[in-house]
Amino acid sequence: MSGPDLDLMPALARAVDEDALVVHFQPEVDLASGAVVGMEALVRWQHPQRGLLWPADFLSVADRAGLLPALGWDVLRRGAKELASWRSLPALADGSPRQLWVNVSASQLLEVDFIPRVAALIAELDLAPDTLGLELSEETLATGSRHAPALMEELRSVGVALGLDDFGSWYSALGMLGELPITTVKLDQAYVRGVGSDLEDDSIVSSVIALAHAHGVRVVAEGVESWSEGARLCELGCDRAVGYLFSGPQIADHARLMLAHGAGWTAPAQRRSRPSG
Ligand code: C2E
Ligand code: MG
Ligand code: MG
Repeated sequence: MSGPDLDLMPALARAVDEDALVVHFQPEVDLASGAVVGMEALVRWQHPQRGLLWPADFLSVADRAGLLPALGWDVLRRGAKELASWRSLPALADGSPRQLWVNVSASQLLEVDFIPRVAALIAELDLAPDTLGLELSEETLATGSRHAPALMEELRSVGVALGLDDFGSWYSALGMLGELPITTVKLDQAYVRGVGSDLEDDSIVSSVIALAHAHGVRVVAEGVESWSEGARLCELGCDRAVGYLFSGPQIADHARLMLAHGAGWTAPAQRRSRPSG
């Protein structure tokens, strides 16, 4: 595997400085109702010569250059503004809240002023509690800091929903589901790929769902690509899903259309009970 492309560093520093990053939005679908209930913000970089770059092309460069906190803050601010703008979409006049999830790196979480800045952003945009969600990966929690759980409690107290990203990709500690103040667990696509075809994956997914629900934690499956994966996840009681089956990441205008009109998913079967939070 090749390392980060360090030639990109000066241009990336300029892009972060000049707000030249782009945020795309990927729909999160409620598997029972088919409604698009939220979006995940995913950063892109419109490079002047190389075209649209994806995180794999530049996040490790950003990390090396110490740019992750500034980059992360830019995505968070833009994403939160987009979330606030959804309130004025006529099709969402029923008032049911939609969530916006933003990925947060360890270096960002550990910044001293991170939580006050998030709280100020929520107040400035008058965001309803738990509509802005932050995703922390297992890797971030493992490599981040022993302070992470306390920081997460503080984030919950200022009205931020918390997701555990890529669950199962690092060291799958099922105990984390009960110990951390998370509202959502995002099941890594490695497990999703096996549902419906691999009995072992079915039973792992089913145990994660049962345990998460026992703790009032919602389960979102990541990287759902086929109808059979979506249908089986629905049967297993998974709450929500994200993936190319419904839609890839979209520019903001397309994402708004999907919030209003759905992503074309109809549940194949009645699902089981789920957390209401
Ligand atoms: P993630 O947070 O786990 O995001 C999901 C990734 O899976 C995204 O890749 C998304 O485009 C991709 N994906 C979604 N559905 C499918 C599917 O059905 N099949 C497949 N094969 N892939 C799917 P992307 O956009 O390249 O982002 C990769 C990772 O980069 C993210 O993984 C996240 O860890 C990180 N990232 C993205 N944006 C940010 C950001 O603003 N800040 C930070 N710190 N990290 C970010
Ligand atoms: Mg994520
Ligand atoms: Mg993920």
